[in-house]
Amino acid sequence: MSQFNILNRYLFNDAHARGELVQLSTSYQNIIKSHNYPIAVQKLLGELLAATCLLTATLKFEGDITVQLQGDGPIGYMSVNGDNNQQMRGIAKLTDATEANRATGLKALIGKGTMIITIRPKQGEAYQGIVALTEDNLADCLAHYFETSEQIATKIWLFSDTEQQLVAGALVQLLPDGDGSSANKEKHQEDFLHLCQLTNTIKAEEIFNLDAEALLYRLYHQEKVQLFEPQTVNYVCGCSQEKCLAAISQIEPSEIKAILAEQGKISMTCDYCITTYDFDELSLQSFISKVRH
Ligand SMILES: [Zn+2]
Repeated sequence: MSQFNILNRYLFNDAHARGELVQLSTSYQNIIKSHNYPIAVQKLLGELLAATCLLTATLKFEGDITVQLQGDGPIGYMSVNGDNNQQMRGIAKLTDATEANRATGLKALIGKGTMIITIRPKQGEAYQGIVALTEDNLADCLAHYFETSEQIATKIWLFSDTEQQLVAGALVQLLPDGDGSSANKEKHQEDFLHLCQLTNTIKAEEIFNLDAEALLYRLYHQEKVQLFEPQTVNYVCGCSQEKCLAAISQIEPSEIKAILAEQGKISMTCDYCITTYDFDELSLQSFISKVRH
């Protein structure tokens, strides 16, 4: 199972295009394990995770990407966040768990909704793209996003195995135009479609059983594929005692005192990993020492 929790990037040397492959096991299992998500929700969250890995790998700078789905369906909100080091976390908030259990397909799960992609470079301004969820699967919605927001020919394939709790994805993307001549453009478009046809032949059993090299050979053995150093994908929540304290420092000191008087402590539970942080009066002394008795 060594091919898992790895993201591979590669160039198609003769086709003016690039590709990515991601295969996830434990990094996905850790995201869903503490939550009692229905199977269909686990599946969609896994696909969103694989998709976000593929998107963060397209970043050309240090930063992070959040992909959110929200709508009026039984999943009110789902979000995955990942950075250029492939440190990922994700969450789903259900409005109706029974209905989410019965639903299949993106439309039934999210309802009438939108996908919001927020890209935050470490240096510089964040930017956001929003598209309506018009397709019934995530991969097609992402293709629609790239068509409208990025205007770079991109196709994404997503796979999930709910029994073994595995997810995977592949991406093919044209590189930005060089001289932009129309003859070149036409050839690039043809190459792109050709690579998409080849990638379309991936079967779930292949993407969950073969490592990157074997899989790329099976798909693209007639192409010149230049494989880059693989990147490890990790589940990292990012919550901490310090971040909780920073949040508590925003509460009125008199209110902190009141909560402590009533409950003896302030408890904060991380939405993502369900870790609970407890703070007693002693650890909050610096926040409440200014309050007059
Ligand atoms: Zn956490």
